[in-house]
Amino acid sequence: MKYFIGNWKMFGIPTSYKIIEKIEKFFKKDIKNNKKYKIVISPPFTLLQNFSKRFKNKKIIISAQNSYFKDDFGAHTGKISPYMIKSLGVKYIILGHSENRASGDSNEIIKLKVEHALKNNFTIILCIGENKIEKKNNKTIVVLKKQLKNVLKKNFNTKNLIIAYEPIWSIGTGKLPTKKELIDTTVEIKKTLSQIFRKNIPPVLYGGSVDSNTIYTFKDIGLIDGFLIGGASKSSKKFIDIIKNYYK
Ligand code: PEP
Repeated sequence: MKYFIGNWKMFGIPTSYKIIEKIEKFFKKDIKNNKKYKIVISPPFTLLQNFSKRFKNKKIIISAQNSYFKDDFGAHTGKISPYMIKSLGVKYIILGHSENRASGDSNEIIKLKVEHALKNNFTIILCIGENKIEKKNNKTIVVLKKQLKNVLKKNFNTKNLIIAYEPIWSIGTGKLPTKKELIDTTVEIKKTLSQIFRKNIPPVLYGGSVDSNTIYTFKDIGLIDGFLIGGASKSSKKFIDIIKNYYK
């Protein structure tokens, strides 16, 4: 199973459901391929209740973009717990996105977030990735291993985990890893996941400047289990074209 996951970040108002509706229409018509992939869209918190109701019995999965590292309710102004998100019928959460790491989410905090979200039966899309300097200094694998080993525990249910490898220098920049770099890195990520979980490792996606053109670079790398898509997920056409070109 492949995943095409859209991360809307700080984008969307109530009428933006139309974007997802168009993607759903495409999915339903794509009978040749639609058993091979899942679509997940992550709108901001403000739209979760509306959209999770609207797409409840549909083929598109609605995901949150983040959640707090404590449970239930508490004195945490502006924060949203997994328990609160679960009450809306949402079942997926992106955690550890580099934009949240940049504003203070350490591996320690992300670990707590993952634990609380798993406790609430969420499927977690855990983002990992090295920055430009780390890549330049050949620290990519060291950084990724740390991000995985400091967050994941061997008793976590891997059925509820998805890993998204997103090199920070590639996000929103149009810069891509070479095919070889991406294969080598994905192999290392999967090796590390095997060390943690032994068997049944979670899927590993790629994210960073994926669009309808760059998808051609990745389509024959079977090792990659799908894509996390930022910018291009805000347009139904761009998002649909990625899937069309992947299966062309
Ligand atoms: C992202 O932020 O998760 C992402 C992959 O962004 P983009 O596709 O815009 O590079």
